[in-house]
Amino acid sequence: MGMWETRSRPFFLSRPGIGLWRDHMRKLNVDRYRKILEQERDRIRNEIDVVETRIGIGDTGPALSELADYDNHPGDMGTETFEKEKDLALRDNFRSMIGRIDEAIGKIDRGTYGECDRCGREISMGRLDAVPWAIYCVECQDIIEGR
Ligand SMILES: [Zn+2]
Repeated sequence: MGMWETRSRPFFLSRPGIGLWRDHMRKLNVDRYRKILEQERDRIRNEIDVVETRIGIGDTGPALSELADYDNHPGDMGTETFEKEKDLALRDNFRSMIGRIDEAIGKIDRGTYGECDRCGREISMGRLDAVPWAIYCVECQDIIEGR
């Protein structure tokens, strides 16, 4: 996947297209979205810290043997294992959220924020207000999620 596949326009169309796009970016006030995204990322990082402290692991994550160990003692460890698995799933969710936020911030840096990564059309401001880390328009999101 290169620049040409998503970006190339016939030469005679490229200038007005880019002009319109800049208007969209300006209307979007990307600095505001950047601030929202960075705040959300900080908040989620704190959440991850809380979860990791609770399950007693650091940045390296739990060793697989450690988890297997839990599975081998289903008796009195059952509840604890369940809680730990819930926390691990929670941490995974938070991490993928941060991934999405980083991707959106990357789009701001590249000047493509508010543009669908799949079809290249504008993502509506209403959608960006509701989901500031959206990198796809509603239609493409539905297709990707198989709805
Ligand atoms: Zn799209």
